[in-house]
Amino acid sequence: MEIYIARSAGFCYGVKRAINLAKKTLSKSKENCFTLGPIIHNPFVVEELEKQGLKVVDSVKDIKKGTLVIRSHGISKQEKEYLDKMGRKVSVVDATCPFVEKALAMLEILKKEGYEIFYLGDKNHPEVRGLLSYINNQAVVFEKPEDIPEKKYKKVGLISQTTQKPEVFKRSVEKLLPLCEELRVFNTICKTTTIRQREAKDLAKKVDLMIVLGGKISANTKKLAEICREELEKTYHIETAKDLKKSWFKGVKKVGITAGASTPREHIKEVVEFLKNLGE
Ligand code: SF4
Repeated sequence: MEIYIARSAGFCYGVKRAINLAKKTLSKSKENCFTLGPIIHNPFVVEELEKQGLKVVDSVKDIKKGTLVIRSHGISKQEKEYLDKMGRKVSVVDATCPFVEKALAMLEILKKEGYEIFYLGDKNHPEVRGLLSYINNQAVVFEKPEDIPEKKYKKVGLISQTTQKPEVFKRSVEKLLPLCEELRVFNTICKTTTIRQREAKDLAKKVDLMIVLGGKISANTKKLAEICREELEKTYHIETAKDLKKSWFKGVKKVGITAGASTPREHIKEVVEFLKNLGE
């Protein structure tokens, strides 16, 4: 059996940075070190960091003193205000991904210049909820271009969640263009996502079976699985090698592996080991 691994599979820049900052913070003090929600969308990495002392809280108000490591999705305006009020009682280590910060800057430009904002993304994702809070949620959030209401608009600003598919973003531009007098587009899909998705698509075209490795709630992993499935029906989204079944590989000659931005390299190695042990 031939095994192909996508070049950029595994941790992205933003996730690596967040984990390193969390570890660095824990090495200074394990006391009262928090993240707001899981630091990344991978339960195994979260559990590992919890063992080292990192506590996950659901609300910023649960933190009365200590250190908060802000995860790569960033935080909302209200959460930021709470932390400002807490002053020196809560110190902040900001691991917001620079791509998310850039998206916020673009959103604020659109808001300031009076554009009606259309935001391609999942309204329940923490990155989207966080960013939109800075513009008082004044945006139309949509998941596919077909959901954009067909009417006439004057000034429209189009922007995207960092992990959306470039192809869907492009179709959103095409849908909006004939409807608007003016359309301003900021492509805020992060570079890592674009490359990873392109590689996954290419790989799915040349193998018999694709494995997409990563957390079931990870938005970027789910997108990778969707993209691979469009090319290859035999695509499996798994969280770890333990989810693999021998029966999937009967008669399979070429296997492709890709992994979401929050999947550690070791998990990929475990999948490779499983495949090698199939003895085919
Ligand atoms: S997927 Fe992109 S935006 Fe999200 S953390 Fe990674 S590098 Fe940053």
